[in-house]
Amino acid sequence: MRDGLLVADVHGHVNPVNGLGPKALASRFRDSGGWLYGLVNLLSWSVDLRVGEAGDFEALYRIYVGAAEEMRSEGLRVSLILGPHPAEAVRLLERGFGIEETLDVMMGAYELAASYVRRGLAQGLGEAGRPHWRVDPKVMELCNEVMGHAISLAADLDVPVHLHLDPFEEALMVVRRYARRADASKIVIHHARGRIVGLAARMGFTPSVPAKISELLSVRRWWGSIVVESDFLDDPRRPGAVVAPWSIRRTFLRLIRRGEMSLENALGILVERPSRLYGIEPPSPGGP
Ligand SMILES: [Zn+2]
Repeated sequence: MRDGLLVADVHGHVNPVNGLGPKALASRFRDSGGWLYGLVNLLSWSVDLRVGEAGDFEALYRIYVGAAEEMRSEGLRVSLILGPHPAEAVRLLERGFGIEETLDVMMGAYELAASYVRRGLAQGLGEAGRPHWRVDPKVMELCNEVMGHAISLAADLDVPVHLHLDPFEEALMVVRRYARRADASKIVIHHARGRIVGLAARMGFTPSVPAKISELLSVRRWWGSIVVESDFLDDPRRPGAVVAPWSIRRTFLRLIRRGEMSLENALGILVERPSRLYGIEPPSPGGP
């Protein structure tokens, strides 16, 4: 890209079974200026798997290790984030699993994800966290415990952990408690919006803001602390549900042309901070 504006999408998905797939997504994103994709596994049932014990997540993780490789072969840097989403716990409970049983499956699935990081097959954990819809307090407690475990595993491995939270200060306070206990420093608050962005930044977390003009303008005070994400689902049945990764560059160019954002701000959000977060060097300007 001649103006040097390369794009990191810190949190997005791909559906290798029912979607566009890794190759098509990667080449389209790369052609739009994309250099780095934080690839997070989808839910087990999104790729037609059924899990009943921690070991069953092996199949899900293997699919994503393969997807990350395919995306890299298109010339993209990929940081692979593995772990069960809190909705997996809710689904297990709905299927009749007890609280303890569900906790075992979720904790074991994070241990397994950590073993992928140790073997160099993945680069982060998540998305862990709390349902953003109303659930029984016992379920919330379970989700907190799983999140705390994911945070401490990520701290030990010194890799980022992506957290999916309900949009309240209380959720961030819970995260801060776990983060302090584990001495965790790479906490990504996924889908951070509005007031949560500043609160998270002040606590030393990395707010990942949806890459939309309105969302970005509403948090301009925090442009020196944020990264952005598409949270692309790669679900052909819900094309408009999220931001497309290949639209991010256009969004930033628009903000820069309108004089709303400086190129320096954009480079911080799209290149420097993601590079530091994932420990991946950006391609040199003018290079491939
Ligand atoms: Zn997501």
